[in-house]
Amino acid sequence: MAKLTVEDLDLAGKKVLMRVDFNVPIKDGVVGDDNRIVAALPTIKYVLDHDGKAILFSHLGRIKKEDDKPGLSMRPVAERLSNLLNKPVTFVPVTEGPQLEDAIAKMENGQVLVVQNTRYEDVKDGEYVKRESGNDPELGKYWASLGDLFINDAFGTAHRKHASNVGIATNMPGKAAAGFLMEKEIKFLGDAVTNPVRPFVAILGGAKVSDKIGVINNLLDKADKVIVGGGMTYTFYAAKGIKIGNSLVEEDKIDVAKEIIEKAGDKLVLPVDNVVANKFANDAETKVVEGDIDDGWMALDIGPKSIQEFKNVLADAKTVVWNGPMGVFEMSNFAKGTLEVGQFLGTLEGATTIVGGGDSTAAAKQLGISDKLTHISTGGGASLAYLEGDVLPGIAAISDK
Ligand code: AMP
Repeated sequence: MAKLTVEDLDLAGKKVLMRVDFNVPIKDGVVGDDNRIVAALPTIKYVLDHDGKAILFSHLGRIKKEDDKPGLSMRPVAERLSNLLNKPVTFVPVTEGPQLEDAIAKMENGQVLVVQNTRYEDVKDGEYVKRESGNDPELGKYWASLGDLFINDAFGTAHRKHASNVGIATNMPGKAAAGFLMEKEIKFLGDAVTNPVRPFVAILGGAKVSDKIGVINNLLDKADKVIVGGGMTYTFYAAKGIKIGNSLVEEDKIDVAKEIIEKAGDKLVLPVDNVVANKFANDAETKVVEGDIDDGWMALDIGPKSIQEFKNVLADAKTVVWNGPMGVFEMSNFAKGTLEVGQFLGTLEGATTIVGGGDSTAAAKQLGISDKLTHISTGGGASLAYLEGDVLPGIAAISDK
């Protein structure tokens, strides 16, 4: 079912509670990388341009004790937002009570207010009570009572059931809608897994099979081909009886890998050759080997034949989801597989190419290929959960159209 979006709302004169992702790095009271604040601007500006009153909620870091609070105040974020919007932003240093309520009551249309870090609610009087992270029902009800409408634009927390996303949305008498960022994530990741234009090819990499079992299983049901590369390859090799030398392996997942191989048949595409190294270092001695890997050698990247074969499989794809690097891309001598596969995705014409968050997003950025791809997800855990076919509580709580 399609979800309500910010454009479906009548915002004029309304107190619009917004869950945004302002979880940015802060050092000595100064915001570092402000990408996430910049990414939230379109939805915030839309609300302001339509005469709404924007009341922003976000978490920042993790708060487990009183001492964590001062360094994780939202004040520097509010200041940066004010600079970016080029207008005043009211910062309220508390998460509840008369100070917050009065500040909201005084707001005029087109004004912005930032509420203190929602995770301040996780610690009360020195005790770790997790009111925000545990979705305390009273907290969600209280926050919802402060506004008329709710907009969730924080995809990165959509896989979590917190008071500031699910709590507010479910207690809001008015409507709960997706912001532009959230809408984009639902459109691209959601369409890919529920309604892909075919052929649909998934490329999964990264270190651990254990992190990706759910994704592999779900995508084997949905995709036409599932390419596996990266460190988790060698657990599959072990399952097939191919020698892996000193390569990464999860012994306790070999049986799961066997089951996946059986279920997948020829849908599963594994590397046929690898770049192996005599130590885990960029200056290691290396060689390319097909099949069995001798003891004393570890596979740190896919080899040239595999790169070519992966490209052949990808060549006519109309939807591609990519999650996880093909090798240890952080070391330049083992980045080739990830780089070439990523660059190839950028050349596919008429295809929707989606990067599923986390390390692959970092890889795409590091390799300078982000702008060639259709969609780079902003959520790590959230995008994996989506690709696993899970219902994300933060999205489920948004009103249907
Ligand atoms: P993940 O967080 O599961 O997506 O894994 C990403 C990490 O996997 C990156 O830090 C890569 O360096 C690492 N990785 C990829 N391929 C290999 C490999 N062949 N051996 C060891 N680590 C790998």
